[in-house]
Amino acid sequence: MTRSMEHFKVAIIGAGFAGLGTAIRLRQQGEESFVVLERAAEVGGVWRDNTYPGCACDVQSHLYSFSFAPNPDWSRRYSPQVEIWQYLRGCVERFDIRKYLRFGQELQQAAWDGETQRWRLRTSQGELTADILVLGAGALSEPSTPRLPGLESFQGKTFHSARWDHAYDLAGKRVAVIGTGASAIQFIPHIQPRVTKLHLFQRTPPWVVPCLDGAIGPGTRGLLRSSRLARAALRAQLFVTRELFALPFLRPALAGLVRLLALHFLKRSVPDKALRLKLTPPYQFGCKRILLSDDYFPALNQSNVEVITEGIKEVRAHSIVTSDGTERAIEVLIFGTGFEVRELPVARRVNGRDGRTLAQVWGPSPRAHLGTTVAGFPNLFVLQGPNTGLGHTSVIIMIESQIDHLLSALKYMRAHGLAAVEPLKEAEDAFVANVDGKMRRTVWLAGGCRSWYLDSTGRNFTLWPGFTFSFRSRVQNFDPSEYRCETQLKATAQGSGTAAARATHGA
Ligand code: NAP
Repeated sequence: MTRSMEHFKVAIIGAGFAGLGTAIRLRQQGEESFVVLERAAEVGGVWRDNTYPGCACDVQSHLYSFSFAPNPDWSRRYSPQVEIWQYLRGCVERFDIRKYLRFGQELQQAAWDGETQRWRLRTSQGELTADILVLGAGALSEPSTPRLPGLESFQGKTFHSARWDHAYDLAGKRVAVIGTGASAIQFIPHIQPRVTKLHLFQRTPPWVVPCLDGAIGPGTRGLLRSSRLARAALRAQLFVTRELFALPFLRPALAGLVRLLALHFLKRSVPDKALRLKLTPPYQFGCKRILLSDDYFPALNQSNVEVITEGIKEVRAHSIVTSDGTERAIEVLIFGTGFEVRELPVARRVNGRDGRTLAQVWGPSPRAHLGTTVAGFPNLFVLQGPNTGLGHTSVIIMIESQIDHLLSALKYMRAHGLAAVEPLKEAEDAFVANVDGKMRRTVWLAGGCRSWYLDSTGRNFTLWPGFTFSFRSRVQNFDPSEYRCETQLKATAQGSGTAAARATHGA
């Protein structure tokens, strides 16, 4: 006797902001047939995994949160990781979605079955099927560690910022940090006072601007708790201000003033001229992610910190040797070297209509219609997909727009008795061409830097070249004319699913 496989309307991969947001919104629409598959033992995504000292979000919490789940009790303008993680766990209870969550279930393969018009999923704990597959696995989940010559011979302690070893005491140690990105500049000020020596290996100096963080007092919190209008006004003010931050990226000519302010901030913060020179970026403002920090430069001024700009030649058992031949003794090596963004690991596990994986179809340059759906992959929605990242404001706004697109698609499918929707290749190509065209004028392509925003072909496949409201207005509604829409296939008497009839719209 064959055991029937569990089936859901929607299967969601990942329980971070994207996956949980989708689950909550589905629930709000009255959908009950869905499941969230999470490989870890808890929700939270990057806010669960990144626990390094000083980890916080560089977008104000009142904007970096769901629009449908305001939290009047954020303790700071830029709340720390633990509070954001707590917020997400709180959302699970607040919207009563725990029963839809399955932990310890890693997606091994998802394959589209054209006969049944369903996704067949194999996870680390079994198999299931779903009409719709939502990938909410995120792009910043796999830590990237450079293959430094001799690294395997190192006898000291090593770890990556996204896998911080809190059991290991850094006090009194000689520490090397590699990387000066968003993560490193947050943890360096926290470890610098505890270590004997901090050797900071910098390949490219980032542009750093003041963060102006601060606690939110009980009076303001009380007001936000009691007044819906106050909450809406604060969010609107943050939204508008942060949208303006997009201008220097989109029109580099406008970046001049901000660049001068950043240089002034550097001059005011770092009195030592030689150090300042090392910390001055040789590329345009905004070409790489702009970093917000009030305590990074002060930490680098301390006598136990050395900023090293020579490349790493070799790692030895107890030291690092740079290209100029200098050897520095170290006991700990911390990688602040970012994530494997160029190929989403999950892309190798999703097979579309013709059996090829997303990774195979994408090749070196991932692309998607509206950053969300992919030709050849029916009923697949990729949250935080290609060209949906941001350099200026809260990515939650983008995620919510994509979720709205999914809900709008589901509504249309229900109303028209559809079993599958898949973007037309022409629609996807036109969208991508439009994005690429807008990208040409941005600082990310013309700014003279190397960044993880670009793929190996030099195309910016990560960021949205516009404002979030323009993304929202383009993406939130499902437009059937851009999709191939399939009605239910008529099954044969044996239920084999052989196509006796197929109707398509929008092709
Ligand atoms: P990252 O921005 O990719 O920075 C990695 C750093 O490591 C860079 O300085 C890079 O130098 C350096 N590096 C990489 N490989 C190297 C090598 N082989 N040798 C020497 N240096 C090397 O990584 P991240 O700081 O973890 O941040 C990743 C992303 O996470 C951010 O861009 C952001 O989107 C997100 N994030 C957000 C927040 C937040 O507050 N919202 C906080 C942390 C992270 P180059 O610059 O020369 O490549």
